[in-house]
Amino acid sequence: MPRLVMKFGGTSVANLDRIRRVAKRVGLEVAKGYDVIVVVSAMSGKTNELVGWVRETSPFYDAREYDAVVSSGENVTAGLLALVLQENGIDARSWQGWQVPVKTSSAHGSARITDIPTANFDDRFTRGMKVAVVAGFQGISAEGRITTLGRGGSDTTAVAFAAAHKAERCDIYTDVDGVYTTDPRIVRKARKLDRIAFEEMLELASLGAKVLQTRSVELAMRYKVKLRVLSSFEEPSDTAGTLVCDEEDIMESNVVAGVAFVRDEAKMTLVSVADRPGVSAAIFGPLAEAGVNVDMIVQNIAEDGRTDMTFSLPVDQVARAEKAVQTARAAGTINFHDLIADEGVSKVSVVGIGMRSHAGVAARMFKALSDEGINIKVITTSEIKISVLIDRKYMELAVQTLHDAFGLERA
Ligand code: ASP
Ligand code: MG
Repeated sequence: MPRLVMKFGGTSVANLDRIRRVAKRVGLEVAKGYDVIVVVSAMSGKTNELVGWVRETSPFYDAREYDAVVSSGENVTAGLLALVLQENGIDARSWQGWQVPVKTSSAHGSARITDIPTANFDDRFTRGMKVAVVAGFQGISAEGRITTLGRGGSDTTAVAFAAAHKAERCDIYTDVDGVYTTDPRIVRKARKLDRIAFEEMLELASLGAKVLQTRSVELAMRYKVKLRVLSSFEEPSDTAGTLVCDEEDIMESNVVAGVAFVRDEAKMTLVSVADRPGVSAAIFGPLAEAGVNVDMIVQNIAEDGRTDMTFSLPVDQVARAEKAVQTARAAGTINFHDLIADEGVSKVSVVGIGMRSHAGVAARMFKALSDEGINIKVITTSEIKISVLIDRKYMELAVQTLHDAFGLERA
């Protein structure tokens, strides 16, 4: 029998009524002749509640116990869905991560899946099981402890199962009906994409589009898993949702596929650092050790052997970053005249594989922003993306402007 992976997010399993609706969906695929692996999230809000309880115990909680607690939400929904499926006359069984086992690294809170053996499910499917319901987001380390895969990790569980079982498709059911050109809450004319390339999706996911966990897209790209994002609240249809696929499978696309944004960014400048070999390493080494996620980096042209170094980071890491560079300064490994932090910036990016073959995308982007009087503070580019840092108060305007400038409301 062909195999299918279906993943249901928190809002799709938020209560028993919705779990019953999910069971109906799954039943439709079983009726088509698929052996189905269903991956479920915790009921919406549950994981946040569990994380909150753990944090209340101590700011220095043990990461292994965090995983023990936080993984439990998925256990409940997996068991409930199996029960409802059985009630519908479908041969179904639930699995927690350790039972499969979903083997992972020992990085508690953000573990990576290393292996998913398939023999057990193969055997069960041959003997008549129709649906395996898997608790997403969790696995087991080599030390035998429960691990979790990072927030949003059920997407990655689903794609990993699809890859391991060579599933025909991996359908990610969520509360939106697909991947949009940008967030429809900011741009009303945002359009649902029928298809998007893995690489574009990867950029959009890591640039703040929350619909899929970034790592799940990486995995899908590596193992060429056909990934579909669709709503569990719409009537079933073969063309529903957005297909995330190889770029060869996209006939024609806009130069720019979408506009992504990260609202809460910060920018730090070390004014007048020495311009000599080793200085960047002396700055960014301690920042990395302090767990600061530095994103964009800009170094000015040097004058008199001194230069300014600017970088961007998440707003909530500014204090940590300041401490790291001040400590390095006190230790004498770096020196600078001044440290300036700007906590009021946002990052706005345009993404599209069409940029590889079309010149002038950057020029068009900068012109559109300047026509609206929006000042660009930092720019970075990659082969398929251009990102700018701007004042946060212009973020919505910038996203709308770029959506218009690249004609994204039209297919
Ligand atoms: N329940 C977990 C979370 O909220 C995993 C997931 O839903 O993907 O992050
Ligand atoms: Mg999610």
